[in-house]
Amino acid sequence: MMGTLYLVATPIGNMGDLSPRAKEILESADLIAAEDTRVTGALLKKLGIEKKLVSYYEHNAAMRSSLLIRHLEDGETIALVSDAGTPAISDPGEDIVEECIRRGIEVIPVPGPCAFVCALTVSGFSTKRFSFIGFLPAKQNERKKELESIKHREETLIFYEAPHRLLKTLSDMCEVFGEERKVSVSREITKKFEEHIRGSLSQVLTHFETNPVKGEFVIVAEGGTKEESNLNQLSLEEHLDFYLEQGITQKDAIKKIALDRNLPKREVYAHFHKE
Ligand code: SAM
Repeated sequence: MMGTLYLVATPIGNMGDLSPRAKEILESADLIAAEDTRVTGALLKKLGIEKKLVSYYEHNAAMRSSLLIRHLEDGETIALVSDAGTPAISDPGEDIVEECIRRGIEVIPVPGPCAFVCALTVSGFSTKRFSFIGFLPAKQNERKKELESIKHREETLIFYEAPHRLLKTLSDMCEVFGEERKVSVSREITKKFEEHIRGSLSQVLTHFETNPVKGEFVIVAEGGTKEESNLNQLSLEEHLDFYLEQGITQKDAIKKIALDRNLPKREVYAHFHKE
């Protein structure tokens, strides 16, 4: 009989969030595959569990998958854990899950903490429809391009971000989404210095420019409005009127139109200033 792969969620800061079932599975598994064996080793020590650990991280995932699959095909039970939270969410896991499914090996989730679900649920934004974007590209031009491509989405948008890039990303969001778009930034969820900063992009950016940017962050942005998402279907004149009616100057409106439509500013400017 084939074994089972369990995806075991672990705490994102507070040990109290490890479920009794997660502990049971970690205790009973034949093998634990861990993103970082030192991190998981420390967790197991706290739980008083002694178990064989093998590493399973992004850069050895392809090689390790075949070893883990052999164990699973021999009928063993494997618990896959990441450093924190739910495996396969911006963490290694999806490849081995796909391979198990292809080979008819059972994959079972052991639910628990997941930073983006926590941040979304306390954001105050719609939870009916949302997109989890995860980490944006590190390079600014690629990051802005990706933000451009999703700026008109009406559903709530969720991002993971590293502390050293938080300010740059919030500032790019200000430029692309507009300073008034509402966001909720969750910091150090379940930890001692947990906080949830809510407001317009410009307010939240100012907050983090004047307070230390330390810890782990999730950014949740309110979705765009229907009006905004339809803007690109308007004529350039109607698009301009839309902004002028909001009291925005013509110069700023032209900048916004260029961003909305992904056009060079001078082209939009030329359109409104032709003879
Ligand atoms: N698998 C994890 C999960 O289920 O949330 C996510 C792993 S991903 C490599 C790490 C990112 O998750 C961090 O950069 C941060 O954006 C977010 N994160 C993890 N723990 C967090 C926490 N306690 N508070 C805020 N964000 C957190």
